[in-house]
Amino acid sequence: MKHQEEYRDPAISKELIKMINEISKKPVRLMEVCGTHTMSIFRHGIRSVLPENITLLSGPGCPVCVTSQRDIDAFIELSKYPDTIIATFGDLMRVPGSISSLRQEHAKGRDIRMVYSPSDAVKLAYDNPDKKIIFPGVGFETTIPTIAISILMAAQKNIDNFFVYSAHKLVPPALEALTADNDTAIDGFILPGHVSIIIGTDAYRPFFEKHRVPCAVTGFEPVDILKGILRLIEMIEQDEPSLENEYKRAVTADGNKKALDIIDEVFQVVDTGWRGLGTIKNSGLEIKEKYKRYNARAEFDIQVPEYEVKKGCICGEILTGNKIPPDCALYKKVCTPVEPVGPCMVSTEGTCAAYFRFYK
Ligand code: SF4
Repeated sequence: MKHQEEYRDPAISKELIKMINEISKKPVRLMEVCGTHTMSIFRHGIRSVLPENITLLSGPGCPVCVTSQRDIDAFIELSKYPDTIIATFGDLMRVPGSISSLRQEHAKGRDIRMVYSPSDAVKLAYDNPDKKIIFPGVGFETTIPTIAISILMAAQKNIDNFFVYSAHKLVPPALEALTADNDTAIDGFILPGHVSIIIGTDAYRPFFEKHRVPCAVTGFEPVDILKGILRLIEMIEQDEPSLENEYKRAVTADGNKKALDIIDEVFQVVDTGWRGLGTIKNSGLEIKEKYKRYNARAEFDIQVPEYEVKKGCICGEILTGNKIPPDCALYKKVCTPVEPVGPCMVSTEGTCAAYFRFYK
């Protein structure tokens, strides 16, 4: 209880803001790679209390935003197969593909249903034995264990009409890709709290040792985020990079072994395509041969037409920190949360949606 009071204490936030403003001299670009951080930073007005020399960038932290257009198109193609039901999280329904979206396909009469968890999709399969239920698997290390569990559940109950299309993404290889991109120039990373609960801080060690970029794992309260920013600024000003855990009440060095074992039981690491970042080596997961009967790619011969990049949408450049939403000609004019043109405006965790809601 005492901890809760501390990390929500406005007096501590005020002190941290003062310290950041006192010590920060160099121009720095810090990037968060977590949609929940993006929202929290905006909601609490953290950008407005930092000195002008600190730029906060929102990187590839929103699951539906980083899902490649080709995978979105594949979900849409899958919805056209006879006797299938697409069981998906709500925000994925609104993400525009090349020429349609799951929401538009639903309006045309395709059977697409919103679920709140992958286990709901397994239940749907159990209740509809004459249908094939397809769950589009998107998300980072935080959600992957629940999807692995859904496959294990289906195996345990001998359900053979449940399928997952795995488009999952892993965070550490994305940091590698962002750092290797010379245009991006990130001075420090605010590392995601939820993902780190699963993978632990040691999962970032190889990346950190190779690039020596200041890194701080943080939580989501204003004090957590400000502490992380303060540590990053101290590291940058003193030229002493390190990998630090500022979210010790939830994150350990090793992560959640049980969750990691479940992921490892079901999935294997593969290269995968990210919106804005292209194909990143060892940054995705595919279902292992042992559970191939649950793999939508193996079950369906998915023919995805050549996709076009949405004209005018710069989500890719926003996800790499090279641009911000007001740089987009469509922002607020054509693209809004009600009528989103790109995925960064769809999800509540998307950078464009956050700017739309909070940026004046
Ligand atoms: Fe894409 Fe809309 Fe964001 Fe522009 S404002 S980058 S069109 S999502």
